Amino acid sequence: MPPKRKRRLNKPTRTQSFIFVVLLALTAAAGYLLAPTHTPSPQATLIYQPSKTQKNLIPLTPSPSPVITEYPHTPEPETTPLPPKTLTKTPQKEVKLAIVIDDMGNDVPQTKEAMVLLPKSVTFAFLPYPPATPALAAESKATGHTILVHMPSEPLGEDAYPGPNTLKAEDDADTLRSKIAINLAPLANLAVGVNNHMGSKFTQSESGMRTLLEELDKKGYFFLDSLTINPTATKKAGKGLSLPLLTRNIFLDHVPTEEEVSKQLARAISYAEAHGTAIAIGHPHPATLTILSREILNLPAHVKLVPLTALLP
Ligand SMILES: [Zn+2]
Repeated sequence: MPPKRKRRLNKPTRTQSFIFVVLLALTAAAGYLLAPTHTPSPQATLIYQPSKTQKNLIPLTPSPSPVITEYPHTPEPETTPLPPKTLTKTPQKEVKLAIVIDDMGNDVPQTKEAMVLLPKSVTFAFLPYPPATPALAAESKATGHTILVHMPSEPLGEDAYPGPNTLKAEDDADTLRSKIAINLAPLANLAVGVNNHMGSKFTQSESGMRTLLEELDKKGYFFLDSLTINPTATKKAGKGLSLPLLTRNIFLDHVPTEEEVSKQLARAISYAEAHGTAIAIGHPHPATLTILSREILNLPAHVKLVPLTALLP
């Protein structure tokens, strides 16, 4: 019996020890389990940490990159490489685009339409002879537009009529001076610069251009070569004079359809991106005004629309 009891007692102790071992193992496991219960909380802080660092990133970048501000809301951590990409894109050096609208004052309704639709950073070149020019130019200047005298100049084709007092290649210096004075007068105290209306013949005359540029220099104007023909005598004629010279880069509406004007505006932007600045010339055609009034508002962020005076050397 006693051995039986012993056996009975021994057998339970073995099983008990086994249970103890198991219990020890379980408690050890429980200990491990208790310890890892802290690991989910570090994971939680890890989730918070990025958001904190993201919050810090926002004030660090002064240019409000939309990717950085959107990033905390987007669940994809893969978007992280995007900020550097966009940061290299958006700092894409700011470029300047000047748009000049020629032939202003001639067609009064279209001139008024341009004045209503286009922002003040668009420069207006008024023909000097239309009776409506002085009042329309004064109104444009009052609303902040930069004004040019659109100087009637002799073209190669005989069909085109640039207007009265057109500067001609065969004119002597005195004739030119008096014509220049007549053409500047209606826009006195309004215009700050001059560009040529037509002039594919006159702008090739070095002596004629020299007289024009000397007169403009004396009176403090700058000159924009509309470049109706290339090359012109402008650079040679302007040597030694202090008046600033500019050159047109893109014509917006040789083909006055919305599709073509839109393409030409895109070319002007590309030109500005490649060279830092671009000067585009258009006219108050319906298609030009439609496209400009719409697309000027949607210019890329790095393309700044500026008055022509902002591009003076
Ligand atoms: Zn013109």
